[in-house]
Amino acid sequence: MFEECQWVWMDGEIVPWREATVHVSVHALHYGTGVFEGIRCYEAAQGPVLFCLDAHLERFYASASVYGMRIPFARHELAYAICELIRRHGFTSCYVRPICYRGSRTLGLLPDKCPIHVSILIWPWGSYLGNAALQDGVNVTISSWTKFHSRMMPTAAKACGQYLNSILAAREAFHEGYDEALLLDTNGHICEGSGENIFLVKNKTLLTNDERHSILLGVTRNAVITLARDLGIAVEVRALTVKDVHSAEEAFFTGTAVELTPIRAVDGRPIGQGIRGPITESLQCRFFDAASGNDPIYKGWLHPVPAAAKPLRPELVAAEGAD
Ligand code: PMP
Repeated sequence: MFEECQWVWMDGEIVPWREATVHVSVHALHYGTGVFEGIRCYEAAQGPVLFCLDAHLERFYASASVYGMRIPFARHELAYAICELIRRHGFTSCYVRPICYRGSRTLGLLPDKCPIHVSILIWPWGSYLGNAALQDGVNVTISSWTKFHSRMMPTAAKACGQYLNSILAAREAFHEGYDEALLLDTNGHICEGSGENIFLVKNKTLLTNDERHSILLGVTRNAVITLARDLGIAVEVRALTVKDVHSAEEAFFTGTAVELTPIRAVDGRPIGQGIRGPITESLQCRFFDAASGNDPIYKGWLHPVPAAAKPLRPELVAAEGAD
């Protein structure tokens, strides 16, 4: 997975991959005290473009703030760092993983004295649930693990330690022969996949849930809601039941990693015809067109990666040149 990676951005510097290490005493390793993002960079005609970079950075800072971490870099500095890493690697498309975490000072539970670090990794990452998944869909099981409630952990934050819940569910599903888990919330309603939001299609209406059902509010979810409304498809946001899933005509997951992946069956019961449905297919098509710059309406979602590095602070470069 990381074979083509040469560089990592760490606390303001680009360092060789093998030197991008942290000490075993960092707080985040022991307690999961970190927050992260997953962003995709797509290949567009004019070069690589980052999909919904602003929304991802917005959530990154918001997640950090929930855990009392002040990210010691401005958004434009992180955006610049991401572009610089992509440019250096020469990737035309890739996955981008910024992480902000508590470093080494104490292993008491109160992390406030631990320094705050920020790193960015990038790597080429194809379809998350396998190449066939985008077309044929995935087999899902309803997990025996429940998604934590927002009074237990801030579900709106994308925090490292919170993913142990997802990992338990994903491992269980995988070892039972499924591709992915679907978690219920503490009230027994549908929540989300281990790393993706869920949509259903019933009576030609697109249904999805929201933060009242303990989901992470996905950036892809937002984009798909907009694409659907623009296509004239009605979107209803409400609680979803297990019965809704079993009686759905179509179902799919959304997320940066899975993009828009159809759900073929849940616990062995086919959804609709057990194949990618027509609404899923048309939204998928629209989504990939938007992400790769083929639909001018959604150009605003894309952040181009410039072919040559532009100076981050032109005034500093000008001053250096004057010496
Ligand atoms: N839910 C969870 C638990 C996730 O980890 C993700 C992936 N970030 C999502 C939903 C989808 O979010 P996004 O579309 O922003 O990637």
